[in-house]
Amino acid sequence: MRKLLIFFIILLLSSCALPEISPTQPLPSQDFPTALPAATNTLPPTETLETTEAVITPKATEAATSTPAPETSPGIILFIGDGMGTIQRQAATWLGLGENGVLAMDAMPVRGSAITSSANNEVTDSAAASTALATGQLTNNQFLGVNSQKELLVTILELAQNQGWSVGLVTTTQLTHATPAAFAVHHPSRDDTLIIARQMMEKQVDVLLGGGEDDFFSRGEDGCFTGNGRQPKGADLVALAIGEGYSYVCSAEQLAALEPSQTNRVLGLFAGGGMESPYSPTLSEMTQTAIDILSQDPDGFFLMVEGGQIDWAGHDRDAEKIIQDTLSLDAAVTIGQTYALGHPETLVIVTADHETGGMKLNKDGAGSLLQDGPFLMPDGTAFWVDWNLIKGHTSQLIPVTAQGPFSENLSGEFPLTKIFETMTLMLFSH
Ligand SMILES: [Zn+2]
Repeated sequence: MRKLLIFFIILLLSSCALPEISPTQPLPSQDFPTALPAATNTLPPTETLETTEAVITPKATEAATSTPAPETSPGIILFIGDGMGTIQRQAATWLGLGENGVLAMDAMPVRGSAITSSANNEVTDSAAASTALATGQLTNNQFLGVNSQKELLVTILELAQNQGWSVGLVTTTQLTHATPAAFAVHHPSRDDTLIIARQMMEKQVDVLLGGGEDDFFSRGEDGCFTGNGRQPKGADLVALAIGEGYSYVCSAEQLAALEPSQTNRVLGLFAGGGMESPYSPTLSEMTQTAIDILSQDPDGFFLMVEGGQIDWAGHDRDAEKIIQDTLSLDAAVTIGQTYALGHPETLVIVTADHETGGMKLNKDGAGSLLQDGPFLMPDGTAFWVDWNLIKGHTSQLIPVTAQGPFSENLSGEFPLTKIFETMTLMLFSH
């Protein structure tokens, strides 16, 4: 019965061609502990609320029939390796652990494959792919949190906020980059990073850790790193965040010095643009702090952690960096798994948004001219990496691994949107 109800919620959700829902039904404000702020772009803001109502109403019915509360608070941790296909994972395994090794992300009990095509292109970009993960809807390349008609799509982060959950976004790229942006922002151009930064701060995301301080400071403000702020004068988002009670940090030391029990919200900006490797703080340190802060919320939490530069290294045909960044994401996955050990009501998913580079491996050095290597496995065995002739993203299926409640939903072959559906199953079961 409960499963049927949840399925019905998902049906409702995925059939939400938003503007078709009647705009005349008012929403009781007490249902929205963190009401969705109106978009700053020209998109009609009411649609967000209408969608949310479609979701929240059945939840009230479910609460009446559901079983007692779980022993621990629920959580969803979504790890995204940008550009991390099957071979990226395999290369990291070979270099880090050897041919018979198994990455933490590959040791999860459920494994599936995701089709990554966007609404308008067989080869997606990170904006459309992240929108699919965040909203369960396919959209055009370049679009963030809107469908191909540029209509608002509610995101898993917003749904979690409406359930009273704490939410966080962590990345090694700029926070305004496409992957984190699609979870908090509704805008049809991923390039408008100043608008993206403003919408992201309006969304009141509890934990924001990554690079890109230049998109948050106003002109004339230097921040902690070289490169001036780019927001208009008087629109300093860091000052705004501090005024709203955020802790602001810009170094690994400051991040480590945060006392989670004293910290409800944090904005951490660790580079002017994308973070420099070796990352400081590491992706694992950012993940640990995010979990420490968010998991204090008894209602639950949603956290997205992105290894964002695996894709950049794929564009650069830099196999060494792909491997190092995949291993650093894997270390962050271990942090999530360790948390989940003590908190079984945690859904952990590891996915990519697409593959980048058309990477291939061989052990005889006899591949293409576009070759990188040799790389050495721990036992001394050499291997080489070959690349696609055409640089950039591919339409390859990408691996998805998962553990925890509802993870079994992610076996077999499915579009990226099924990851959103799985996260909402988890969200609405609490
Ligand atoms: Zn890319």
